Amino acid sequence: MEQLNTLIQIQDIKYQNNSLKYSSNGYLDIKYFGNETTKENEINLNVEITKEIESFKFNVMVNFSYINECSRCLNRVSNKDKASFDRSFYEFSNNDYDINFEDDYVDLLPIISEIIINKMDFNKTCKKDCKGLCYICGKDQNHYICSHKEKNVKESPFSSLSELDL
Ligand SMILES: [Zn+2]
Ligand SMILES: [Zn+2]
Repeated sequence: MEQLNTLIQIQDIKYQNNSLKYSSNGYLDIKYFGNETTKENEINLNVEITKEIESFKFNVMVNFSYINECSRCLNRVSNKDKASFDRSFYEFSNNDYDINFEDDYVDLLPIISEIIINKMDFNKTCKKDCKGLCYICGKDQNHYICSHKEKNVKESPFSSLSELDL
């Protein structure tokens, strides 16, 4: 899989009120806490940019998959999601995405990254009833249930973790 092309040529619509459509597939390396997109996670991009009077209207749609670390057992799970972004940018002022309409190309990378990161769920678990890791020895309790004695809990260097709702 190729890296996703996020550069869109806007030259053709700049001087006439017109619109362009662009579609592309590829991967991006986005890492955000326990979540990431890697070379195995295909991103499907559909863009429509419409030139209006002194502004550009963006419609960006992204279908993607990403890897998420289960917040309880830390196993890596693949998730699929999709999201879209609709916004108009005034042609002659700065914006949060470093898009400059004096250039012939606009780079959608900041927009696409934001769309994907907004969808990444940081409290996601691999399954509803994931039992997580043992807070004493760290073993995955989905495969093996530990039966430590209560006094070990107090001696364990990890015992303070038991008070957290993991
Ligand atoms: Zn889990
Ligand atoms: Zn244990």
